[in-house]
Amino acid sequence: MKLQKPKGTQDILPLESAKWQYVENVARETFKKYNYGEIRTPMFEHYEVISRSVGDTTDIVTKEMYDFYDKGDRHITLRPEGTAPVVRSFVENKLFAPEVQKPVKMYYIGSMFRYERPQAGRLREFHQVGVEAFGSSNPATDVETMAMAYQLFTELGIKDITLHLNSLGSPASRAAYRQALIDYLTPIKDSLSKDSQRRLEENPLRVLDSKEKEDKIAVENAPSILDYLDEESQAHFDAVREMLEALNIPYVIDTNMVRGLDYYNHTIFEFITKVDKSDLTICAGGRYDGLVEYFGGPETAGFGFGLGLERLLLILDKQGIQLPLEESLDVYIAVLGDAVNSKALELVQAIRMQGFSAERDYLGRKIKAQFKSADAFNAKTVITLGESEVETGQVTIKNNQTREEVTVSLEEIKSDFATIFKKVN
Ligand code: ATP
Ligand code: MG
Repeated sequence: MKLQKPKGTQDILPLESAKWQYVENVARETFKKYNYGEIRTPMFEHYEVISRSVGDTTDIVTKEMYDFYDKGDRHITLRPEGTAPVVRSFVENKLFAPEVQKPVKMYYIGSMFRYERPQAGRLREFHQVGVEAFGSSNPATDVETMAMAYQLFTELGIKDITLHLNSLGSPASRAAYRQALIDYLTPIKDSLSKDSQRRLEENPLRVLDSKEKEDKIAVENAPSILDYLDEESQAHFDAVREMLEALNIPYVIDTNMVRGLDYYNHTIFEFITKVDKSDLTICAGGRYDGLVEYFGGPETAGFGFGLGLERLLLILDKQGIQLPLEESLDVYIAVLGDAVNSKALELVQAIRMQGFSAERDYLGRKIKAQFKSADAFNAKTVITLGESEVETGQVTIKNNQTREEVTVSLEEIKSDFATIFKKVN
């Protein structure tokens, strides 16, 4: 029997989860500024929701799905990404209806599951923050969404981050490019990796973002998709570039970037940073104008990105960024003697009910050990409660930094702790 966590998963313990909460809060606050609301979709979906939209030939669908048949013989998969479920929900809830304000802007934060080979920053259960905007084909939507990710990274203090930009164009220009790429790769097929030889048949664009060395060499002189954009695609791409420049958001054009998922068109992008000299993508996304229709909704433009939280936290860590985490307690109550156990509970509750964070001793320990706990919890103040305090109705409250003490009545604490707290701090 295995009583350890499954491979590729992790427990996020309180000290660590404080960082997660901080980052998630900054994300929520940032998205709010752009008029986004949160969507929560199920952790699992019908297999087809993912397989068909993400792409039958992608790594996610061919190798990485956590799928199973449930007791009703339904083919289910844990969600490997957030966009397909959100689009499914958008259509199912008829958010395309005219009375719903457009664009519809939604973000999600949650677990994703992929059966991958675990390594640094790559897990089987990982967490993504993602955003999706529906109903605007305006290039300003592309740019504000990239700007939103950029603002998030800036607010977190992340450095050395590069925006990589490319366009996949319209379906027609993509098809033209696909043929050009096949024509280029077929004569040098033997020099490609096994995987890429297969990709050449199924999904030649994916050869471009292979991580294998021989593939990287093979595609160095490949034709560029940007030479195959039709007029409309070119205009969209030019507008995106101009607006990025107007907002002073630096970017590089990366014509070999195609993204792992099949549903993108026009703008695609990644934010990449270096960790231990290797490139790490923390955020990736783009435009997916055909996806809503694919799920049975009306033709609707879409734009979004997904951002890996583990990788974001890894980068914060590697870059030595100290998050402003407030880990302190307003009050610690030292409890002297079993006789005042119940009174201590009343006191700590009274303080909590007035909006302060408070902890007490539960273990009947020596006073010294209790003061040590107060320090360990970073308590701002300490109240000592014993039988004599209960008898007189008077306690001392001590500032745990300056050691300054004030004597107050238990009644005052129960009726107006805020005033006392201010006096001591
Ligand atoms: P990669 O090329 O690194 O496998 P991907 O193309 O599979 O990435 P997406 O599907 O675009 O990645 O997911 C968006 C982001 O989610 C990634 O940029 C990354 O930060 C994060 N991510 C993807 N897979 C994992 C994983 N297994 N563990 C942790 N984070 C992940
Ligand atoms: Mg992947």
